[in-house]
Amino acid sequence: MGARITAFIEAQCTRCGVCLNKCPVLALPLDEAKAEFERLLDRRTPSAVLSRCNSCMSCNLYCPEKANPYNLILER
Ligand code: SF4
Ligand code: SF4
Repeated sequence: MGARITAFIEAQCTRCGVCLNKCPVLALPLDEAKAEFERLLDRRTPSAVLSRCNSCMSCNLYCPEKANPYNLILER
């Protein structure tokens, strides 16, 4: 696992919420994690992730689909 930056792969994302559920900062219950990820995908609504994320990139490792959720947060 290198430090190479890749893009969020929306087609691989199942919107499972695991990334924000396992995030050490947010640690959202799974249903809230799913809802928060939907808000992140929907540019029109504010996302708590954007103000609290500390860029640790752990969520990219937690994502079971290797969709690179951190890179979506970075884009937003
Ligand atoms: S980015 Fe990965 S962990 Fe996050 S909702 Fe999508 S598939 Fe699940
Ligand atoms: S990069 Fe941000 S959203 Fe991802 S696990 Fe770290 S603090 Fe959480």
